[in-house]
Parts: sequence; structure tokens; C-alpha cells
Amino acid sequence: MDSNSTGFIYNPEMTKHECFWIPDFTEQPQRVIQPFKRCNELNLIERCQQLDSCVGTEEMALLQHSKNLIDSLIKTEEMDNEELKEFSTKYDSLYFHKDTNKCAWIALGCTVKLVDKVIENEIRNGFALVRPPGHHALYNEFCGYCYLNNVGIAAAHALSKGVERILIVDWDVHHGQATQYSYYDDPRVLYFSIHRYQNGQFWPCLRQSDYDFVGKGPGLGFNINVPLNKIGLTESDYLAIFHHILMPVAYEFDPQLVLISSGYDAALGCPEGQMSVSPMAYAHFTHMLSTLANGKICTILEGGYCLKSLAEGVAYSIKSLLGDPCPDLGPLAPPSDSVAESILNVIKVHRNYWSRLRHQSYGQHPDECAYPDLWTMPPKEGIIFCTEENQPDVHILTNETLPLEEVEMCDKQLNEMIQSQPTDVPTIRTAVCFDPSMETFKDLSHKLQGFSRFQKLLPRLHVIENTDNASELVHPMIERKTEERCQPQILLYHSTTPSSTPAPPKNSLC
Ligand SMILES: [Zn+2]
Repeated sequence: MDSNSTGFIYNPEMTKHECFWIPDFTEQPQRVIQPFKRCNELNLIERCQQLDSCVGTEEMALLQHSKNLIDSLIKTEEMDNEELKEFSTKYDSLYFHKDTNKCAWIALGCTVKLVDKVIENEIRNGFALVRPPGHHALYNEFCGYCYLNNVGIAAAHALSKGVERILIVDWDVHHGQATQYSYYDDPRVLYFSIHRYQNGQFWPCLRQSDYDFVGKGPGLGFNINVPLNKIGLTESDYLAIFHHILMPVAYEFDPQLVLISSGYDAALGCPEGQMSVSPMAYAHFTHMLSTLANGKICTILEGGYCLKSLAEGVAYSIKSLLGDPCPDLGPLAPPSDSVAESILNVIKVHRNYWSRLRHQSYGQHPDECAYPDLWTMPPKEGIIFCTEENQPDVHILTNETLPLEEVEMCDKQLNEMIQSQPTDVPTIRTAVCFDPSMETFKDLSHKLQGFSRFQKLLPRLHVIENTDNASELVHPMIERKTEERCQPQILLYHSTTPSSTPAPPKNSLC
């Protein structure tokens, strides 16, 4: 196995899990079929190290779940359709199929296997194209299309293998409350979530999803929630959150492993997120996180319910893991006022824990401040949050959809975005330009004094050439023997006749 490769893990068995009583339910098999197809079209999967699928074990699941929950999941295999439908109503936003149990264990096994391969240095990074998703699956309760918390368990597994600091970035548009609860007092795991919140009115409608829930005990500061209180937000808003909070804190935390709860439901066209993030932006998000943890990044699929933007977002994430250049996003607009306020609110509560946030002041005097909510603390008045006490006995599963004209408009926009991306990728990725005749250059004035510092510097030209693994680092290496003097290019900057007292070029640093 190539330790510098990108792993990819998938098993078509996971398409068997589906909601049999609501046709085209949002959490559907096409959510992995379409990304797989798109990645194949772009030849991405053949460029990855394909890992054999694997099934999770009870021992793994017990790292995050009760025995009771595991037994309940296994028992669903024996239920008939009526019993499955009835059992589903006990849980918030959930359905069971006779193959749900099997698929949940495959999703878990694939996730843990990918993480194992990365922490054992067998591959550099990787993508787990799995479903059902996991970040809402609680210790003793299924929730929000999730049965076993794939990422939460994989993090616990990595800790048990000796990894000391893990950054979990959850950019799924829903708050991964289960992962937050699991590591709320654990400073070994920094949980960072960007999620649609609308001051508590968006699912899962929890008070705990707001920015002032920062961890507790030794885990204080290691839980960072960035609530999005508006819909229609774009990559500009997400990149502002990366630039102002996530990356400064991540560098200070210095993780040894990065796990991404990678939902694509903030991408353009998703009926659940109702955001407008370009699928191409996921390459940028992934690229930024690749600078951490010696590149050890595992990306694990969570949500994403617009099949086209999901497939494209997955493809761009994998392209970034493979080291392809990030696509041009065009000029970015400033972040929206709502996101600027959320960023400053996060800085307000986290600057005590993270020194890299302290240079950012978060507000002027309340009367002069553009963001009046910076001077108050949540919650806003009149919001009814979801609590254990006010849960209904029977949950009705509903399918989120967008009006047809909005679907068509998003589809058109996505097609334009996809078509505007260049398809021609240079065959040579990195080249070194080197001419052996440069070795003949000597400093005669110093030679007369029996010393030539330039002669001492000559071996510099051989450093790259003689490096043992140069041909792997710079592939392929090009040696260009230049006879011509490139005079037209030289004249763009220099004169033909040297003056006795040459004036330095304007703005020269010499
Ligand atoms: Zn989601």
C-alpha cells in the first residue's frame, strides 16, 4: 500500500437501506450511488487506493453506544415491515428497513478501517463513502437518520490506539449533537461544528447547539459551535469562519488526526440546508485542513440531499485529498452580517481558551456596535427548544422538498458551475528548471584572493538533483539546457548598456 496515497472505501451493500414507505425519501440509496458514479466519471476512484469494505464490531460500537441500543438495532433484522415502521416512530427523524442493521455496521466498519489505515501510515488520507450517516446517533438513542455514530466511534478508536489530539470538523448543515455530547469534557478531541441554527428554530432545535456551549471541566474550550442564523449563506461565509476561527484554533490545537463529518447539505440546492455553498468550495475546505496533522485527514460522509451538489461536493473533496489544485471560486463577497456576528460571538466566548483569537476584539461600545447581540448572551426570548421532556411519543417522518422552480434554478446554477470548471489537467505536476552551465559561473575577484564564496555555493545546484528521492518528490524532473540568452525577456526588465553607477530598479529590495 502506498503511504502517500488517498484511500477510498465504499460498499454498494449500503444502498439496501431505504425508507420503503416514502418514495424518494431524502436519505436514499442514490446518496452514495450518484457520488460514486461521478467520481468514476472523473477517474478519481482509480487514482485512489481502494480499500476493501469491512463490517464494524460490537466492541467498536460500545465505545460510544449502550448495549441496549446495539441490541435494539440488531433485533430490527427480524422485524417485518409493519413492525419496522412502528418501531421507527419511537425516534426523531428516523426510519428502519430490514437491511438497516447490516448497512449501519458496514458504514461503521468502513469508517474505522479508513481511520486505522491513516493512523498506521499505510495511506496519507482518505474518503469513506458511507451511509447511513452517524453524527446524530446518541449513546442510547437513534436519531436523525443515524444509528451508529461512525465518526464519534472512529475518534474513540483512534484515541484507544494512542492518538492524543483529534480535531473533528463537522460541516454538515445540522449540528452533530451526539458527537458534541460524547466529547464535551474531553480535551483530547476538539469538536468544531458549523450548522444552521436560526437561534434554535432549526432541527435539532437544541439550546446546546449555540455558541456559548464551549465544553466543560477539562474540555472547556474544546467544543466550538458556529451557529448560522440565516439561510442562503455561501462559501464566502464558510471561508470567513475557516479564516477567522477554525484555522487559527486548529493550528494552536495541533491535532494528530483530523476527522471530517462531511455533510454536503449546506451545498447549493439541498432542501434541508437551504444554503448556497458552491460544491467546489469543499475542495478549499479540505485543502485548508490538509495543512494540519501531517496531512492525516479522514473524510466521512454524513448528510447531503441534493444529489447533484452532493456528488460534485464529494468529487471535489476527493480531488483535494488527491492534491489537485483548488478550483477558482471567483471573487468572494464579504461574509453576511449574520455570520460576522456569529464569528464575533464565538470569539467572544473562546478567546479565554485560545490565544490565537485574542488579537480580535469583538465589539465597540454597545451603542456603536453594528452587532447588538454581541453584548447579550443566548437564548433569545420566546424560543421553544427541543428537550427530553417535550418529545412526542410518536414521531412522524417528513420529507423536506424545495418548490419545483427553485429545484430547476439550482440545477441550472449547478450545471453552469460544473461546466465552467477546466477539464484539462496538466500532465506534469511539478517541474524543476536547471541548466548545468550555471555551474561555470565564478567570482573572479574573490578567486584572486584565494577564496571564492561562489565556488562554495556551487554545490547548492546539486542539492535537489542529488537528493535520494528527488525523482519521487519532483516528478518528472526536467533538465532544460538553455543555449539562447532569452534577450527579449531580459530587456523587459534590464537595459542593454550598464551604467557606471547603476540605479536600483524602482521598489527594489536590493
Ligand atoms: Zn445534515
